[in-house]
Amino acid sequence: MERLVRSCYKQGGYVFAKKAEEIGREYGVARIARLASNENPDPPSALAVTAAKKALLASNRYPDERGDVLTQALRTCYGNYSFVIGAGMDGIIETLIRTLVEPGEAVAIATPTFSFYGLAAMAQAAHVTTVPRHVKDFSIDTKRLIHAGKTAKITVLCSPNNPTGNATPADDVGEVLEGIEGVLFLDNAYVEFSDYDYLPLMKTYDNLVIGRTFSKVHSLAGLRIGYAFAPAWLVPYYERARTPFAVNSVSAAAAAAALLDPDHPERYIAQVKRWGKRFADEVKYPILPSDANFVMVDVSPHTGDQMVEHLARRGVIVRSCRSFGGLPDHYIRVSIGEDWENELFVQAINSI
Ligand SMILES: *Cc1c(COP(=O)(O)O)cnc(C)c1O
Repeated sequence: MERLVRSCYKQGGYVFAKKAEEIGREYGVARIARLASNENPDPPSALAVTAAKKALLASNRYPDERGDVLTQALRTCYGNYSFVIGAGMDGIIETLIRTLVEPGEAVAIATPTFSFYGLAAMAQAAHVTTVPRHVKDFSIDTKRLIHAGKTAKITVLCSPNNPTGNATPADDVGEVLEGIEGVLFLDNAYVEFSDYDYLPLMKTYDNLVIGRTFSKVHSLAGLRIGYAFAPAWLVPYYERARTPFAVNSVSAAAAAAALLDPDHPERYIAQVKRWGKRFADEVKYPILPSDANFVMVDVSPHTGDQMVEHLARRGVIVRSCRSFGGLPDHYIRVSIGEDWENELFVQAINSI
């Protein structure tokens, strides 16, 4: 019966990090440092947990389809912008492409970057144009991105970029917004760890969507909830394109409450600042400057896959960058975790 499956799903798909339980079993390591998924190691805010419990008790009812409680909390937090919400930022990316892109139309992506944009575009039978970043520092090639964006419905830029960690200056983003014909989707998942602010651009441009997530600094990765600043004209069409109840009531309630607890992210943000410096000082392999809660490490002469294996044996899970596409095969991406995890990583990689 496999002949029935669409050809685009016969192979490939999203590459997931290895599971701590499997590594533990395979190598007989008791305590695993989980540094592969850029999560906040802290549990969610107590406010978010309380709100989620309350919503769970009422979960016999369908959620509010517009997510008004969360949208209102976002307005209180950020000001009078238009928002869309989704089942993770991944859900927003998928819906945005479904809203705008007809089969065969183009989506332009600055690479190497997060792989889901390409997968979501493929699912929509879009034509994907990749625009490589500069080799020396992974900054974007503004001219080429604009050129590709002249014929693309959506141009995708991740900043700070996953997995390279660098951010794009707001002036360059403005230049891209001026030059392209379609929408710019700016993936801002790591905004809390960087000093770059793109929100002022929302006031000037009506073709900018800024994607955000509760999965990273807000400690809600398991609840699958994200949001985006979107131009007002886009919102009603996005809502038509999404699945009818895309965001569940528990996640929406937890996210709205998380926004009321600005102290929660602070401990981890400080941890990231501290360990970003320590990684750069203490790891014997070259580390790229990062504006996010992870670093990309050049592990040559090893390949990324080999280094992932070496570190797994020592109880540390990191990501090989091979699956990101458009990168040489000698990089790994390492999240900043708890002290003991980071210490174990430094000690382990320096012994290899
Ligand atoms: C983690 C991540 C996301 C995914 O966010 P979810 O809200 O968990 O779907 C999106 N973009 C980038 C670049 C990420 O690293």
